[in-house]
Amino acid sequence: MDSASSDTSGLGIAALVASDCEQVQILRDAEIGMTAFVVVHSTRLGPAFGGIRRWSYPDPGAGLADALRLAEHMTLKCAIHGVPGGGGKAVLLDCPELDRRRAYLRLGEFVQEMSGRFYTGPDVGTGADDLLTMGEVTDYVALPDQRGPGELSEPTALGVFAGVRAVAKELDYSTLEGVRVVVQGLGGVGWRLCDLLAKAGAELSVCDVLADRVDAACVEWDAVAIAPEIAHAVDCDIYAPCALGGVINSKTLPELGARAVAGSANNVLASADCGVDLFRRGLLYAPDFVINSGGLVHGALFHLEGQAPPSTRIEEIGDRLTEIFSQSSVDDSPPEVLAREMARQRLKQSSSDPFLPGRKQ
Ligand code: NAD
Repeated sequence: MDSASSDTSGLGIAALVASDCEQVQILRDAEIGMTAFVVVHSTRLGPAFGGIRRWSYPDPGAGLADALRLAEHMTLKCAIHGVPGGGGKAVLLDCPELDRRRAYLRLGEFVQEMSGRFYTGPDVGTGADDLLTMGEVTDYVALPDQRGPGELSEPTALGVFAGVRAVAKELDYSTLEGVRVVVQGLGGVGWRLCDLLAKAGAELSVCDVLADRVDAACVEWDAVAIAPEIAHAVDCDIYAPCALGGVINSKTLPELGARAVAGSANNVLASADCGVDLFRRGLLYAPDFVINSGGLVHGALFHLEGQAPPSTRIEEIGDRLTEIFSQSSVDDSPPEVLAREMARQRLKQSSSDPFLPGRKQ
């Protein structure tokens, strides 16, 4: 990894200087090809929650910048949904020489040393096996089996579904019957979302880079297959990106075929300007960190309260979005801007009682 080899090498330092995060830890072990960043953005409301992203970045700086941004998002998610926790994230730089099992063990040991200040779980590149590996050495990981909160993409999909219902109401549909939804990405979240949408009577168009998933979806729900490159441009009511971030950008925005964007992907907007642009064009956007929080709410409350929260707690994501949309029209301000402001206000209003390592949660 040559940090001077790419234009993005300065990103990490710039992001670090701009960030108000509490802690950044760099873990390195050349023998196992490991470089990881563990970021705690805030413990003002409680312990930091956030998954581990294993990804191949152009350089370490880009990985650090991603960790900082994602950790802040987790703080916003907790604040806006009234979860007594904060935001954290770990990024494990993927590379051919990485000894995956040993790297997750190292990360697990470090998380254990943090004594509950950071509770971690899945993210892109970190699956059930990695979490089980970490569970060998730490108590602070969301186990995907009956000992832990289970598979988090399920509550995430439930939350996105509640959000899509709230969005459909804003578009003046009383139910999802006949509402045309494009789902991009048929993985853990997208597949479950399609199932919920189909049962509610929505008309589905779907895409994935994996052809067998698309074929299966077409059989399962009589969905229409579309090419991933044109997903954003398909004429429909709601575009639900459930694969990659950055799908709303200066190129795709003028081509959007939907009246609203509401999906699980993190960082749907390539930049904050895109959110403003969507709003000015009269297109509805469900802020990603609000709509995709079902897994966080479920996992964090499981950890804090020792049992899974009722599904109504996840369905409240729809109510929160309705609140944001109505405030957005009163203030004539984009939902994304408003949601951030609401989350920040809640953080400010909370008593300044940082999480104390070792405190019983
Ligand atoms: P996943 O890896 O299980 O599924 C992603 C799917 O998208 C895969 O089937 C993949 O083949 C497909 N895909 C990749 N590139 C694509 C493209 N260009 N067009 C169409 N499909 C493409 O991931 P997931 O857990 O379902 O998460 C989906 C998104 O939601 C990610 O952005 C993730 O960060 C976000 N998210 C997930 C959770 C969760 O609980 N899993 C929580 C919050 C946010």
